[in-house]
Amino acid sequence: MSNAYDVIINGASVGGCTAAILYARQGARVALLERRSDVNAHKVLCTHYIQASAYPVMAATGLDKALEQVGAIANTADYWTRWGWIRPPHDPAGAHGYSVRRETLDPLLRKLAAGTEGVDLKAGHTVDELLVEGGRVVGVAGTAREEPFSLRARLVVGADGKDSTIARLAGARTETTENGRFSYFAYFKGLARQPGDAARVYYLEPDNAYVMPMEDDVTVIAAVVSKARLDEFKADLDGAYTNFVRSLPEAPDIDNAERISKIVGTVNYPLISRDPAGSGYALIGDAALTSDPLAAVGCAWAMQSAQWLVSESAPAVTDADAASGAAVDAALARYGARHAEETGPHHHLIADYAAARPFNEIEEFSFSAAARDARMAAHFHTFGSRLMTVEEFLAPEIVARMEEVNGHGLSDEVLRRLAGEDVAGSGDGAADDVFEGVAR
Ligand SMILES: Cc1cc2nc3c(=O)[nH]c(=O)nc-3n(C[C@H](O)[C@H](O)[C@H](O)COP(=O)(O)OP(=O)(O)OC[C@H]3O[C@@H](n4cnc5c(N)ncnc54)[C@H](O)[C@@H]3O)c2cc1C
Repeated sequence: MSNAYDVIINGASVGGCTAAILYARQGARVALLERRSDVNAHKVLCTHYIQASAYPVMAATGLDKALEQVGAIANTADYWTRWGWIRPPHDPAGAHGYSVRRETLDPLLRKLAAGTEGVDLKAGHTVDELLVEGGRVVGVAGTAREEPFSLRARLVVGADGKDSTIARLAGARTETTENGRFSYFAYFKGLARQPGDAARVYYLEPDNAYVMPMEDDVTVIAAVVSKARLDEFKADLDGAYTNFVRSLPEAPDIDNAERISKIVGTVNYPLISRDPAGSGYALIGDAALTSDPLAAVGCAWAMQSAQWLVSESAPAVTDADAASGAAVDAALARYGARHAEETGPHHHLIADYAAARPFNEIEEFSFSAAARDARMAAHFHTFGSRLMTVEEFLAPEIVARMEEVNGHGLSDEVLRRLAGEDVAGSGDGAADDVFEGVAR
């Protein structure tokens, strides 16, 4: 077996296709393996709001232009809270991601990858074994149309989703957090839209909902509900979902729109975080981090983690003179650190909120300020779009502005914790966890 490829990527979805395009543009020979045979296959369990943080990656792959041609919505959002609407200014020239159904996105991205020189898309290939030499991953083996295959490369990338085969076979360290909510969603056509096609996100404490306009006059509406209400939805899904949507503040008028899909969803969706790199392999997208679908970060982070990996490892992966995997493994360690730095604090807060608990003090303080003040609304939206760090979100001048618009400040205890002080004996474990994520 010779190394016909520099990189093997397992999974030709959002993360895998993005990584394949970016690696090939750097001169790498890429095998892009996908267990599904149909290049038009798409992920059903997704509401496909792609955050603005991924815009630079989409621009780098050319996906931005391809999405605009198929009518993807340049997205933005309003947020309902008990203090009223948070309405960031919707500047058409401002930062945005895209809202586009997976049935449109997945085939488009896969064809973009397959059409990139240097990418060999191998549909209908299921990986079920890692080739390991001296403790280092050096390739994969599996089955294609009932025939065995094996491939070697300098790097194996697991872009194979939340139940990643590569992660399981490599024994990647995994942390799981329970999700206190379940979600159901459906698609509607002909629904009256907000000006500028803004999505609506509802914080109903503890439940959530969102209404997101997509291409072709289609809108997806999701009910993200505390598991305390699961029996109600199980007893009569149609009735419970419909009543839930009708009861939203300024509810979308679903009775004057056509529902064009079944109600689909998932009742148990734990959050999964894995060490994103080991000797000879890396994980990107959901394989590395499956965050809460409610935060709508999965597609953006799949693209961004692909870019972080490629930017760290492409030179080592394409170096034909490299005798050992040492340079690749050093690059993978840098990628692992970058992944943790970029996603860690955000995911920490998302995972804590997934408990379906009431708002904590910082959430009350920042959400109410954003509902009261246009500047804080823009700040809130930029944070939700994952375009700023947790530290920037709660920078001292921002906390001062929030105090001004709220007419009160944070408690001394919270301020001391934000400053990184260990406040002994204060609060329970869950609260301490949140402060770990935001401590400066
Ligand atoms: C209810 C719900 C709503 C969501 N809404 C949003 C949203 O609004 N916005 C957002 O950004 N994210 C959302 N997400 C998350 C988003 O769907 C994922 O984060 C995203 O699809 C991850 O992309 P990926 O490329 O890492 O993995 P996936 O899209 O899961 O792709 C993995 C690929 O690997 C292939 N594969 C798996 N195993 C093998 C194997 N052994 N051999 C070969 N191929 C294999 C699969 O066939 C698949 O094509 C939502 C998720 C859920 C559950």
